[in-house]
Amino acid sequence: MTPDAISPPPRSALCVAVLGAGLMGAPMARNIAAAGCQVHVWNRSPDKVLTLAAPNITVAADPAEAVQNARVIVTMLKDARAIAEVMSALPDAESVPETPVCWLQMSTVGPADMSGLKTLADRKGLTLIDAPVLGTRQPAEAGQLLVLAAGPDSTKEAVQPVLDAVGKATRWLDTAPGMATRLKLALNSWVFALTHGAAESLALARGLGLDPELVAEILRGGPLDTPFFQMKAQAMASGDFTPAFTVDNAVKDSGLILDAAREAGVRADLAEAGLNRYRRVQAQGRGDADMAASILA
Ligand code: NAP
Repeated sequence: MTPDAISPPPRSALCVAVLGAGLMGAPMARNIAAAGCQVHVWNRSPDKVLTLAAPNITVAADPAEAVQNARVIVTMLKDARAIAEVMSALPDAESVPETPVCWLQMSTVGPADMSGLKTLADRKGLTLIDAPVLGTRQPAEAGQLLVLAAGPDSTKEAVQPVLDAVGKATRWLDTAPGMATRLKLALNSWVFALTHGAAESLALARGLGLDPELVAEILRGGPLDTPFFQMKAQAMASGDFTPAFTVDNAVKDSGLILDAAREAGVRADLAEAGLNRYRRVQAQGRGDADMAASILA
């Protein structure tokens, strides 16, 4: 036997199913494949995945086909309801010859959703890892997300190649699912506060007869500035609401923040006001616009 014949299997031996190829799931699938994994991607609307086909990306007809032979399953679907629907339809553990070991749940859900998803994972014979991400479409495309993770230590080695492919860093928080999702909601609360704060400031400037870009210009480089503020202010001033994170998902996440805050006995006045702004934008038929469309409220 030559030395080549006994060398370790290539990274392409790691087979990953990506369920959900929306704004985030599609670039994540691309990056996982680019890192050398074999990716089976499935999306409810098949037209959205046509452009994903590549040498190590296979488009699956349904979730069951996508998870066949996969050792890691990534869910990047809209919400807990969609995740439960899709994952429930998979065959139960007893009837799966080679059960995929790890389920990386990377969509944004609420703490209350996690126990249901854990029960579902147990039924399917999967090990659930709570792994939401911080960062929007552009960091997803660049493989520069920040992954928040909570799951058994024994799974870290198996899933790390996938997390490294989509993110610049992984912050492990706990050995049981739940805490990563909690931190994700606290961080989104800050993201929404920044976005709505920027929107109201620019709208007020415009309403007072000023060029709204002056707000971004004056703040640029100072202690009140952030790259996120500059990016969103530019979108707001120009009216370019090409989505990186949609208003529809912001409504969903604002609702999750409010539910979690209520459960924790915390007043979340800004989240409530922000949710009302996003609902007004939805009512204008702009649910698919970027969250910067808060300025339209
Ligand atoms: P998106 O573009 O709206 O994509 C949502 C995905 O969920 C699509 O694949 C959609 O399929 C699928 N879906 C929705 N309802 C479904 C159902 N009932 N059954 C099966 N599939 C369903 O959202 P995204 O921006 O990629 O975000 C995905 C998740 O990551 C969300 O939980 C979001 O909150 C979270 N997240 C987003 C960002 C961001 O900046 N965009 C950042 C961090 C976390 P179709 O294509 O058929 O509609």
